[in-house]
Amino acid sequence: MALAAASRDEICGLLLGRDDAIEAILPAANVAPDPARHFELEPAVLIAAHRAARAGGPAVMGHYHSHPSGVAAPSETDRACAAPDGSFWLIVGGGEATLWRAGPDVVVNVDFTEISLDSR
Ligand SMILES: [Zn+2]
Repeated sequence: MALAAASRDEICGLLLGRDDAIEAILPAANVAPDPARHFELEPAVLIAAHRAARAGGPAVMGHYHSHPSGVAAPSETDRACAAPDGSFWLIVGGGEATLWRAGPDVVVNVDFTEISLDSR
């Protein structure tokens, strides 16, 4: 959250964990051409995380990104870009963070289901 508040560009990174529990976040550079409005995870971080997961490390469960001037909900772009793979989307905006899951049930428009964050 503090990380997102400090940046005018969208920040992003991976959510790592096991058994449906998110245990850690792994910041990645936003390599989008227009980082103030879009995010694109640095591929090297993504590849390294998947490699680590295959080697017995935590699973890549999804990713997070911020909306510097928006709300903590998926944007139209997010909905258009989301793969319906059940991955988690943590979205930070307006001083809030919300967790979503891209549902596998809708093919064209990904159905985001809001999940309550347990505040551990
Ligand atoms: Zn977004």
